[in-house]
Amino acid sequence: MQHPKEVADLKRFDIPPVLTGFIDGRPVPESASAEIVTCIAPSDETELLSLHEADANEVDAAVSAARRAFDSGPWPRMSVDERNRILRQIRDKIIEHADELAYLESVNVGLPIRNVKTVHIPRAARNFEFFAEVASQATGEVYTQTRPYLSYVTREPVGVGGLIGPWNYPLGLGTMKIASCIAFGNTCVIKPSEYAPLSLTRAMELIHETDIPPGVINLVNGRGHVTGEALTGHPGVDVVSFTGGTVTARAIMRSASAHLKPVAFELGGKSANIVTASADLERALDGSLSTIYLDNGQQCLAGSRILVERSIADEFIQKFVERSRKVRIGDPLSPDTELGPLCYEAHLEKVLSYVGIAQQEGAELLTGGRRSDAFERGFYIEPTAVMAPSNSARVCQEEIFGPFAAFLVFDDLDEAIEIANDSNFGLVAYIWSEDLPTVMRASQGIRAGTIWVNTPTTRDLRAPFGGYKDSGIGRDSARDCMEFFTEAKTTTIPTDTFPITDFGKAQ
Ligand code: NAP
Repeated sequence: MQHPKEVADLKRFDIPPVLTGFIDGRPVPESASAEIVTCIAPSDETELLSLHEADANEVDAAVSAARRAFDSGPWPRMSVDERNRILRQIRDKIIEHADELAYLESVNVGLPIRNVKTVHIPRAARNFEFFAEVASQATGEVYTQTRPYLSYVTREPVGVGGLIGPWNYPLGLGTMKIASCIAFGNTCVIKPSEYAPLSLTRAMELIHETDIPPGVINLVNGRGHVTGEALTGHPGVDVVSFTGGTVTARAIMRSASAHLKPVAFELGGKSANIVTASADLERALDGSLSTIYLDNGQQCLAGSRILVERSIADEFIQKFVERSRKVRIGDPLSPDTELGPLCYEAHLEKVLSYVGIAQQEGAELLTGGRRSDAFERGFYIEPTAVMAPSNSARVCQEEIFGPFAAFLVFDDLDEAIEIANDSNFGLVAYIWSEDLPTVMRASQGIRAGTIWVNTPTTRDLRAPFGGYKDSGIGRDSARDCMEFFTEAKTTTIPTDTFPITDFGKAQ
């Protein structure tokens, strides 16, 4: 069912035909010599906008602006209360423009508007409020045990952050990087994905309607191997915070190593979603559908390997397939849509290619596996599920990053834990059981950064989020971000006089 009124209402917001960067408090002028990257709308394959790509010179200008703002600007020297006031102004701007930002995100990425409105935009606003609170509550350490000394530890901003975001949650994750970086007095340059630059670029204009000083937050637009590489390799960048894929992370680590830059990596996953016979099966079914189909399945934390205990497997999988066939595919701007189009064509092709890969390896296609024929245009795919032949199949080992579930059956919990851990990734895992010992054994045995018990994805920004193994380096949380974006400094002072070795005094 379409909702033309709601959709028409959202379409009142403008989409700029050309996007550039934002440096030193101002949009970068359009340049006749810039490489043009065309952004395509995933819902109808029309041209959405042209991106003027930042080359190495433009990246240098952005880093220089951030450097000046850090080395001699007011931001790192302001009182924390003053910085917090401005971070809260940014939060308010996002809330004030929530509908517009939701529209831009949905049109650009294909994310169903209802989740963008209820989760992503509030999260973007909350990121600034949360890190304002964290910075204002931060404390140091004092050591008095080594007499006569008093040693105290303060944390100072690390400098200029090079921030690289993925296309799946541009605003929610991009603002998390910006807020966690600048709250502690740093400045930054952010590069969104070339596929999804719209919401963050608009947010830059809104952010600069507040009292934020110029140069604190700069944005460069362009492709990863051009703009991204120039940013992560720039000597003026002190730390790199990256969310994206494992292959890109390795390239970034190589370029960051030239200047020994610390890196924080939030990467992909192939997370196990374990449904035991002791689960509340209705809730487990709702949760399993949600973890793989929410946000078009383009989630790092998708429960994409669904492990079901043998005694309930036939019934559970049958119900999962029935519900998958009823998922409402449609225009991402329609409030009824549950599954929108995938973000871009090459990604759609990649996701669909796993149907053939699965079948060649002996998987059974349970449902979906093709473009939705309800749409003449747009990157729409049917919710897809396969019964995998074994956990070593590529559909169980490689991140597909779409609405694509791979089922496996297990006989006991030890086997389920073994399968969950038989992966290069270790981002999250889900366990569904009403039996406490089962839950505890799974949560202790699975090697992943987050274990969600009897719940689909939820996030407490205070608690660490990040991955074991190929799923990342470092964590996001109040404390982890504070440690990453600050340097610890120890100052040692004697509290009394004491003899100092008297070189050269002897007669
Ligand atoms: P990606 O291809 O690795 O790209 C991520 C970002 O890096 C993009 O902005 C990309 O720019 C840029 N980039 C590409 N090559 C680069 C280079 N050589 N130097 C510097 N930057 C470069 O990942 P993606 O496809 O955008 O995102 C999907 C991945 O992100 C999945 O693996 C997903 O699981 C992961 N992810 C993880 C989390 C988490 O919290 N753990 C959250 C969300 C997503 P262009 O796109 O413009 O090329």
